[in-house]
Amino acid sequence: MPLYYSTAHQLHDMLVSKEISAEEITRAVFNRIEQVEDKIRAYITLTKDQAISSARSVDKARAAGEELPLLAGIPVAVKDNMCTQGVRTTCASKILYNYIPPYNAAVLERLNEARAVIIGKTNLDEFAMGSSCENSAFFATCNPWDTDRVPGGSSGGSAAAVAVGEAVLALGSDTGGSIRQPASFCGVVGMKPTYGAVSRYGLVAYASSLDQIGPFARDVTDCAWLLNVICGHDPKDSTSAPYDTPDYTSFLKEDIKSMKIGVPREYMGEGIDPAVKEVIRKAINVYSGLGAVVEETTLPHTEYALPAYYLIAPAEASSNLARYDGVRYGYRAENAGDLADMFMQTRSEGFGAEVKRRIMLGTYALSAGYYDAYYNQALKVRTLIKADFDRAFEKFDLLLGPTSPVTAFKRGEKMDDPLQMYMVDICTLAVNLAGIPAISIPAGMADKLPVGLQLMGRPFGEGDILRAAYAFEQNTDHHCKLPE
Ligand code: GLN
Repeated sequence: MPLYYSTAHQLHDMLVSKEISAEEITRAVFNRIEQVEDKIRAYITLTKDQAISSARSVDKARAAGEELPLLAGIPVAVKDNMCTQGVRTTCASKILYNYIPPYNAAVLERLNEARAVIIGKTNLDEFAMGSSCENSAFFATCNPWDTDRVPGGSSGGSAAAVAVGEAVLALGSDTGGSIRQPASFCGVVGMKPTYGAVSRYGLVAYASSLDQIGPFARDVTDCAWLLNVICGHDPKDSTSAPYDTPDYTSFLKEDIKSMKIGVPREYMGEGIDPAVKEVIRKAINVYSGLGAVVEETTLPHTEYALPAYYLIAPAEASSNLARYDGVRYGYRAENAGDLADMFMQTRSEGFGAEVKRRIMLGTYALSAGYYDAYYNQALKVRTLIKADFDRAFEKFDLLLGPTSPVTAFKRGEKMDDPLQMYMVDICTLAVNLAGIPAISIPAGMADKLPVGLQLMGRPFGEGDILRAAYAFEQNTDHHCKLPE
């Protein structure tokens, strides 16, 4: 197994036993990037010099006999909507094309403390709005399993980088599925933690009541390692939960006997590709075989998740994105007349089509005459969706279904039809509306493309999710498959 395809836990063991150095790992990953990045285009910015120097400092610490934290020397990619001090943070938008943050996002501080090696900033749909990574203002990222296809989105760069060995771990953000869906399309593990589990300080806001940062990894153990580093209370984020984070690796046990798993029929019904359903059915059999009790259940308001999400998220986005006005930082239109003209031209030229669509939808839904009919109504639906989950979790420890109704689609296929693009999120949106945690793990292939299995848990039930995901992984080999 080449170094760049090893897991973080394998690399850590090799580092501790002095089989390899952190610098060798980092160089192996950058060589891999040189090999494949032309075809994949996962990165907006690479930070090679910084990466090599932080790898060297890990090697120095090791030589001095210091104990290495688990992620020391491990190459990590970061979605380009998290602030990196001194390193351009664009959100894949023209409006931030030259923005260099003066501070680090909380998750970057934590990665630095853990001595992880930051490889670079990955591509996304502009401001994380999209499901295919095609809405980037710079370029589209390709799926390593078939480069004519999308890697999913919005964290498509992070997912593709981990899938193809351009990073060992990565961070993404998930507002309506942006970690889980690309993880599913690229055949890697991706997790959205409970809302409030990871600090959003320094994450560029899209829809603040839904946004959550989470890990991409090649296996469940690595996912737990990265969670251990990024989860935890942060007074700088007022929505961060005052919660004692457990050691997530303590949940990595194979025994799931008598665990109760519900399969909501809404996630296995109309609109789900039969080939995807087939893979999920086989996964259900694996769980039954391991002694879990798997039963059908219902989340009756599921069909309203999409309309509610596509009102709430754009409403919040329209407010959050009001700050990009060309005054203090980012793109500013040249030759504008007066101030109002400058605002208008800057925003017209700086934002892409999908972002403008969301700002208009959101502004409309929040306007005085329509607030009750749209935004308020959507909030009420959100409460019903949360209540569906609460009811289901009275009986079940976990809920299971596909992550995405389809496998990776062709680039360009859905770009002219926003509604078709939004429909790709039908299995992921409700989780964000309810604020609960969920993971996507590789569950098999359909037509030579990866299919993700989604496990959803109670608020702060990451432990149950990891346990069940780990048990599945130990008893299957889907996570070992690599793209050609
Ligand atoms: N595809 C969804 C959207 O465009 C979700 C994106 C996300 O999770 N950031 O809003």
